[in-house]
Amino acid sequence: MKKTKIDWCDCTINPVVGCKNGCEYCYAEKLNKRFNFIDEWSKPQFFPERLQQLCAKSPKSIFIDSMSDCGHWTIPQIRKIAEAINDNPQHNYILLTKRPDLFIEKCKLIVEDANHGNIWVGTTITRREDFNRLLFLPIYAHRFVSVEPLLEDLGDLSKEKCDLFNLPYIPEVIIIGAETGNRKSKIVVQKEWVKNIVDSANAFNEMLNSNSYEGIIMRKNNWKPVMIFMKESLKDTMGNDFRQDKLPWNFEKER
Ligand code: SF4
Repeated sequence: MKKTKIDWCDCTINPVVGCKNGCEYCYAEKLNKRFNFIDEWSKPQFFPERLQQLCAKSPKSIFIDSMSDCGHWTIPQIRKIAEAINDNPQHNYILLTKRPDLFIEKCKLIVEDANHGNIWVGTTITRREDFNRLLFLPIYAHRFVSVEPLLEDLGDLSKEKCDLFNLPYIPEVIIIGAETGNRKSKIVVQKEWVKNIVDSANAFNEMLNSNSYEGIIMRKNNWKPVMIFMKESLKDTMGNDFRQDKLPWNFEKER
């Protein structure tokens, strides 16, 4: 298992390396250019032997596609990965995709096999045009949203085109981060953009906790308060408003 600088998980294991999404700000591709893990970044390769690392006894929160996008994993790859996850229920597994439309069916293979409630599937939203991805978050797993890098003001998430808090299954965590690195046209995040996301989540949580008709229905449906986790890249921008809620996949003293 690789220790990681990613501050919302314990470590990464990458059974697949490479990605077809072609994001202009891709950090993983940069790493590949530097260390030459695979020849062609857009042709993902499978390294099934890495799954043996999951046998480690001590429970960890493992980000399992930091060097790929699980939406592009093939069915045989998914089957192998699901088997390894199923054999090692001591960990929490975190998968992040920009192609939840491709992953939604494949996710069933992992969660039906594993079925331990320890699978977290997130999608990335960087601009408003990504909102439709939220509709493909699978119901078979816990859900989260990664707003990283935040590239424009998303507005009030409870009022925008895709009402985040009116989905049938609400994401339980929102991770927010700024663009890092030295890309020429790098977007500098504005405090207001982050505040809009946080305010939307706060309003949802207040409603959930209220004794209004909506609040009672939400609790009956087992909806949970939405956690906010800002990445270190936002520390300076947010100042006193910097916030890192305890992540539900974080073990610490729980097991
Ligand atoms: S989805 Fe992730 S790994 Fe794939 S190109 Fe975009 S940033 Fe890179």
